[in-house]
Amino acid sequence: MSRLVVVSNRVADPRKTAAGGLAVALADVLNSTGGMWFGWSGKVIEAADGGKPGEARQHTQQAGPVKLVTLDLSREDHDAFYVGYSNGVLWPVFHYRLDLADFDAGYVAGYRRVNQLFARKLKPLLQPDDVVWVHDYHLIPLAAELRALGCGHRIGYFLHIPLPPSLIMAAIPGHDWLIRALFAYDLVGFQSRGDLRHFDRYVEAEAGAQRLGDDGRWRAFNRTVQACAFPIGIDVEEFQALTDAPEAREMFERMRKEYSRRKLLVGVDRLDYSKGLPQRLKAFRELLKSYPEHRDSATLIQIASPSREDVTAYTDILHELESLCGSINGNFGELDWMPVRYIHRTVARPRLPGLYRASRVGVVTPLRDGMNLVAKEFIAAQDPADPGVLVLSRFAGVAEQLPDALLVNPYDIEGTANAIHLALTMPVEERRVRHQSQMAVIKKYDVHWWCQSFLDTLAKAEAEVTGTPWL
Ligand code: ADP
Repeated sequence: MSRLVVVSNRVADPRKTAAGGLAVALADVLNSTGGMWFGWSGKVIEAADGGKPGEARQHTQQAGPVKLVTLDLSREDHDAFYVGYSNGVLWPVFHYRLDLADFDAGYVAGYRRVNQLFARKLKPLLQPDDVVWVHDYHLIPLAAELRALGCGHRIGYFLHIPLPPSLIMAAIPGHDWLIRALFAYDLVGFQSRGDLRHFDRYVEAEAGAQRLGDDGRWRAFNRTVQACAFPIGIDVEEFQALTDAPEAREMFERMRKEYSRRKLLVGVDRLDYSKGLPQRLKAFRELLKSYPEHRDSATLIQIASPSREDVTAYTDILHELESLCGSINGNFGELDWMPVRYIHRTVARPRLPGLYRASRVGVVTPLRDGMNLVAKEFIAAQDPADPGVLVLSRFAGVAEQLPDALLVNPYDIEGTANAIHLALTMPVEERRVRHQSQMAVIKKYDVHWWCQSFLDTLAKAEAEVTGTPWL
């Protein structure tokens, strides 16, 4: 069996289960193949401390059989590659927010420089039979840079965020370069069939690619790439074990006692403009306005963990949320009931399932999301005899897999309020039927399925080396 080399922006220690489902799933494979995980350390070296663009300090650490190799980036590289291009251009545009993108030419230069740096540092560590799996939007051109250095390895790529349609992609100066770079991989994976369709249409119309059969293979730029959808899942067993553990049980009991005569709604997100948080609060306000029977009863707990606070768009949304929560509580609250509990923090992972299980409604209403794992965690944590209901945005990748959730358009405030009302009043029989079918899907397509099916497809992909000048 070939050794697996995972490359992603951040590296998680696979021995720590707190790292979440992805790290756990990758750890299985990394452990069994004695693999390597390569990426940024999360540390930045200031210019005054010797940080220079295009250079990095490298650290190697052994985590059981797995080698962790990380790079400290210079301030200039970090600001252009990570803050500038990855999170200031690719993240907003891939989430359809052209208005929030900042197309500074220096950012793309930094993005390319760091991908070249990753390739230069990684190449000498690769063994001839290694299989390389590159993750996410930070590293789109990495395979092209590796190929330019002569790497003939089997290299796969998975995009964790959505891929937008061609006309949205076209807003990025040099978008054709990004898509061409994907042809340096042997396999490219997307979260949903919708994303895959966007890729197919782009490469056919804009790159003149030729489809080779019905297994997702495309020919262009003197290369063949296979493109398929692999919806990522959670580790259902691990999450259910967490649900049964004392910390989650204690959380569940506390919430049930505190809200004994009330119905809880829960939202758990990173505080990101893609998550539709203001729209969610407005829908909740609309619910209280249009369905007065839920006043003094329905309570929304919104947990929003701090995220990317060095980007202006994130501080703007923070202020908008605080003001909305204040006005809803001011207008509808009673001395002994606050409609919204807004918490700008991270909930400790072991307690999270208890909060999900105590909630009658899970509100997952992003404006755009690659997959959304919170939806799957909410389902996994429910009591099958008395399950809560998922109100889910049709614009989350997970909506393709969960047609039995109450699907909503989060821009439609009244429609979302109506769906929340339906969820709050749904009879237990219907809740059970819906939950059962959703549970079957998330169990079948869990994170182990995702990992294994990607790697099996990559192992079979037609890997070829050509002398194309890459970028
Ligand atoms: P994204 O990757 O865009 O943040 P996902 O829903 O796919 O969104 O994954 C988010 C993960 O982070 C989930 O595992 C979720 O439990 C966790 N998470 C998100 N927000 C919080 C929070 N406020 N507190 C604790 N965990 C959180």
